[in-house]
Amino acid sequence: LDPTGDSFSSEEKDIERALRPLSFDDFAGQDKILENLDVFVKAANQRGEALDHTLLHGPPGLGKTTLAHILSNELNSNIKVTSGPVIDKPGDLAGLLTNLEPRDVLFIDEIHRLSSVIEEYLYSAMEDYKIDIMIESGPNARSVQIELNPFTLIGATTRSGLLTSPMRARFGISNRLEYYSTELLSDIIQRSAAILNVPISLEAAIEIAGRSRGTPRIANALLRRIRDFAQIKGSGKIDIEIVKYGLKALNVDAYGLDDMDNKILTTIIDKFKGGPVGLSTLATAVSENAETIEEVYEPFLIQKGFIHRTPRGRQVTELAFSHLGKMPSKGNSLF
Ligand code: ADP
Repeated sequence: LDPTGDSFSSEEKDIERALRPLSFDDFAGQDKILENLDVFVKAANQRGEALDHTLLHGPPGLGKTTLAHILSNELNSNIKVTSGPVIDKPGDLAGLLTNLEPRDVLFIDEIHRLSSVIEEYLYSAMEDYKIDIMIESGPNARSVQIELNPFTLIGATTRSGLLTSPMRARFGISNRLEYYSTELLSDIIQRSAAILNVPISLEAAIEIAGRSRGTPRIANALLRRIRDFAQIKGSGKIDIEIVKYGLKALNVDAYGLDDMDNKILTTIIDKFKGGPVGLSTLATAVSENAETIEEVYEPFLIQKGFIHRTPRGRQVTELAFSHLGKMPSKGNSLF
């Protein structure tokens, strides 16, 4: 299972869209964030103003894109969707911005991947709803200022640590989405099953939820695969037996850990005797970059009690050893 969803086929993407909540009421969890956003949206609606620029950060699949769509629905405005690496010329950005109606939402996914040139242009657009662009070149080159309609930029990033501070400072609202509890994921799975029109038992929903790495996107993806097993190998209903059968066939880890999670834990154990090991050393050893480990993988491993941070680096816990069926070596400071 790919938590980024990049490898999904277009049919899978359509299903994912169908499962996407459309209003605050349908969106499970993240209560504190929703309560605040609800106030900010209502206030902006009453004043007839654009919502303040909003940054949503947190690991992939937790609902950032979903929330951006919900915000535009609740603002009764349109949303234009793009992503950091796609905008490579100032003209692309100008095209997007000048087509926005008053109070529209421009959603930029992976906003940490905007080039620095584009970022510069975005500053004045965000601050003053104006953009200066250069027209023509050589001796005729000159800059013209274009007035924009008041709009809301919603930026999403899995890696807020990579955002520049001037960029970060231009967001009036900033929220970090957290991993979901098994209970919430089980609610999400039951809602999705109803939309997909497949009966599911509570026990089955809870079992899938517990293996979903705290992530709604993974929960929905697992549900769809289990639905296939139920249809072909079972009775069409999703019960605990077919869930256990399907999860085994899919090789899903008992805690929902993915390959990189397991690689991180195995590396700390095998190469660094369980730790502590510094973040950059660990990053090199697993060939992933340090910020991604810190912002995408580690928070879940810490939350589930597989790793803890010490002043001297990352250290695995007893749970990690037992989960991977390994024995702590003598001399490990943990034991
Ligand atoms: P992100 O943009 O953070 O990577 P998405 O917004 O694309 O995540 O969410 C992935 C999928 O997970 C969505 O299609 C949606 O169906 C589901 N999802 C995410 N958050 C929730 C939620 N709070 N309640 C219900 N479903 C959710």
